[in-house]
Order: sequence, then structure tokens, then C-alpha cells
Amino acid sequence: MTTTLPAYDEVVARYEPVIGLETHVELGTNTKMFCGCPTDFGGEPNTRVCPVCLGLPGSLPVANKAAIEAIIRIGLALNCSIAQWCRFARKNYFYPDMPKNFQISQYDEPICVDGYLDVEVGGETVRIEIERVHLEEDTGKTLHVGGATGRIHGATESLVDYNRAGIPLVEIVTKPIPGTGALAPEVAKAYVTELRDVIRTLGVSDVRMEEGSLRCDVNTSLNLPAQEWGTRTETKNVNSLRSVERAVRSEMLRQASVLDAGGRITQETRHFHEDTGDTTPGRSKETATDYRYFPEPDLVPIAPDPAWVAELKAALPELPRVHRRRLQQQWGLSDLDMQSVLNAGAVELIEATVAAGTTPAAARKWWLGELSRRANESGVELADIGATPAQVAELQGLVDAGKLNDKMARTVLEGVVDGEGSPTEIMTSRGLEVVSDTGALTAAVDEAIAANPGIADKIRSGKVAAAGALVGAVMKTTRGQADAKTVRELILTRGSCWPGTPTCTPRPA
Ligand SMILES: [Zn+2]
Repeated sequence: MTTTLPAYDEVVARYEPVIGLETHVELGTNTKMFCGCPTDFGGEPNTRVCPVCLGLPGSLPVANKAAIEAIIRIGLALNCSIAQWCRFARKNYFYPDMPKNFQISQYDEPICVDGYLDVEVGGETVRIEIERVHLEEDTGKTLHVGGATGRIHGATESLVDYNRAGIPLVEIVTKPIPGTGALAPEVAKAYVTELRDVIRTLGVSDVRMEEGSLRCDVNTSLNLPAQEWGTRTETKNVNSLRSVERAVRSEMLRQASVLDAGGRITQETRHFHEDTGDTTPGRSKETATDYRYFPEPDLVPIAPDPAWVAELKAALPELPRVHRRRLQQQWGLSDLDMQSVLNAGAVELIEATVAAGTTPAAARKWWLGELSRRANESGVELADIGATPAQVAELQGLVDAGKLNDKMARTVLEGVVDGEGSPTEIMTSRGLEVVSDTGALTAAVDEAIAANPGIADKIRSGKVAAAGALVGAVMKTTRGQADAKTVRELILTRGSCWPGTPTCTPRPA
């Protein structure tokens, strides 16, 4: 089917989007949710399993206290109410990578409800309401062998690995988010970014989207102004922050083209394709009744002691938003400047560079200037550019010590990014060091004075500003390695004297 998609501006002029996000976070506990099997990544298939996570007859699950503590901390950080009493529920469905034929989850009694997370988009604060945060277990993984694409079509056999089955999974569900208009894709991305940062700060998961420890499903619908919300679709497989934004945008365009043609949106799951940036239909969406949820009879209810919850709340770390505000103040940045630091993904990098001894202004200059430019050119995240905060601090140290000028420092930084070594090593190996030794520079200065008698005359007659032209000439003959300040001093000293004058008092600079 080839349909020409409408322009984004036209879509948001005609329709109002409503988005919603469901995020799964794999907790970094040592053991699984209901058994003692280890949770670390990797390992031979089916070596991290036991009768409980394989669902063998007669085995009984026991809830992992560390996982319950982790989800309560997430709930508190997201301003949720924590249930004083709640239960797990069985979600019944068949899937080969789920050996019990049901998943232990939570249904009508989630442990955390009614929270919010504030995010910044375009200088405005948008409050995202959180409907629920609940605990469940992960499924195993199916590997299709023999097909061309790793998909089930064309595969000769499918292998199931249950190592991941039973790893604690937290699901965070927002309420529908209306009213964001053209900013809907950005709001979705800002929310997932902020959520990731909050959870990382809590230290309960490594929240790596590329490894699947943070997974996101994006709900999108469109409606005409002042009319009921439209039918929503749920886009799965959104594996990067950038894809969250792209998935919302692409689904808005697709739905608009269907609606424009007088069609109807089907409530369904759709798959996002990283390579093309569009979505294709998956299965039609089941409703809750299809899963025949009922309270899990093998587990006791969770009833966290309010005193324990209060203790956990009091011990929460400084959350990213508060942390950023404190840094902004310490660094003396305007809202706009802080926003560009955020947009560049440079907060932690600058923070670490400052911690290594650089001034905030210098740290910001390198990360937002040269390094951001290189990251954009090569299409990588700033954090993956190949230069570390320690190296940037070392580079600035060489500048502060007068060993490198700005231009040389840029060259050295290129070398760092290209993996040539530390700034000091590159400075040595490339023979880049500022020459400030007066003995070595005097000859070059005298040469420049002799070659430019007119300028020398001007300096002698008191036009000190003319020295700039001679500084340029000396920098040229020394291939930019002369210390400009020393050169200027030398020019004023030697240029002020008439040729052959035995003693000379330099003019004040
Ligand atoms: Zn197990």
C-alpha cells in the first residue's frame, strides 16, 4: 500500500493527539521475582532456571523483598500513593516463552497509584500523570532459527530460553496525555528520558533501552477539536529515546491519512521499525477480560508497613530535576543555557569534568562546542563520542598551564576523539606545544620587525595597536605554536628600539 502521508504541520492543525506511555523496567535485583535464580545477563540458555520459574507442578512462588522495596521507591519518586494492602493477579494466556501459561502480574490492585512526573519541553513544564506502577514477572525469550530475518516466517525451528523468565519487571503506566498538540512526540521522548533518569538515580535498574532493561510502548490517537478521543493504537518495539519521538510522529501521520480518507482506526498493536521509522500492524488488541485475571492464590498479599514506606521516602536520593536545578545555580547558567546543556545530553559529562577540576565555563565550552559538533557529525550520542570527562579536564589543564593555545587544544581534542591517546600523549606525539621561551622566539620577532619596517615605525611612534600585525606574522612563521602573549611583549620591547640602540627601555604595553 502506498499512501502519501500528509505534512505534520497540517496534521496538528486539523487533529488533536492524545498519547499515553507504558514503560517496562527490568529491576536489577540479584535474584528473580519469585525464586532464587540469578538474574545476570548472558549465560548458557536455560541454566538460570528452577522448578518455580519453569512453572513445574508443586512449586510455590515467594515474592522478592528487594523487588518490592525497589518498586515502592520508584512509586515514591513518581509521587504515587503506596497501597497499604494489595495482591498479585494471574494474567492467563499462552505463549511459548511463558512456561506457566500465565504471568504473575497485578491487575486491579497495583502497589503504586496516582502519581505524576514533571518534564520540561521547550522551556515549559508539562505534568505527566501516572495512573499506576505495578510489579510483574518477565517472560523468557524465543529464538527463531533458519529464517532469513530471525523471524518466525521461514524458520526451521524455534528455541526457547527461560533464563529471563521470572525476572522482576515494573510497569509504569501514564494516564492519557491530551493537549500537547504539535509537541506530542517531544513530550513522549522527554517523559521517557526523565523516567529513565529518575530510575537510574534510584539505582534499581540499569535502564538500558538497547539491552531491553527499559522498554516502551506508545499509545497514540487523534481526534477532531472538541470531539471525543479517537481510537488508539499501541506501538511496540520502541528501543531508543529517538524512536519514542519518531514512533509518535509516524503514527500521527499514518492515522491522519486514514482519517482524511474517511477510514477508521483499528484498535491494535503495531510494531515500530527502527530502519524505516514507520509502524506495521501486529495483533488486534485483547481486552482485560480476555486474560481472565484472578487473584494469585499461591502468594500472600503485600502489606508494606507504613513506617517502612516513610523510611524509604525519607531516604530517596536527590532526584534529577532538583539535581539539575542545583547544578544550574552552581554553574551560573540561564534557563536557556541550561536547556542547551540538557538538549545536548551533557549534564553528567559537564558535572564529571567540573569534578575533575575544570571550571564550569570551560567544561561547558568543550562539551557543547567541539565535542557536540563531532557527535552530530558522526550521529552518535555525546556520551559515546570517545572523549571522557577526565580527558577534557586534562586538556583544559594544559590550556590553563599555557602549554596549549585554543587552536592547538582543538587539534589535540580531535586526536582524543580519534583514539590517539591522552591529551598529554597527543600533545607530545604531534609536537604541539606552545613556545613561550623568549630565546626561541626572539629570532622570529626580529625577523618579523625587519620584514615589516613600516609597522615597526608605527610602534616606535607610539601606535602600540600596530603590534597585532607583527604578532600575526610571528604566529605564521612558528606555525601557530608561539605563545601570543610572549610574542606581543617581545615585539613591544624589541620593536620600540631604533636598530642599533645599545640600551632600550620598552614602551609600556
Ligand atoms: Zn527460578
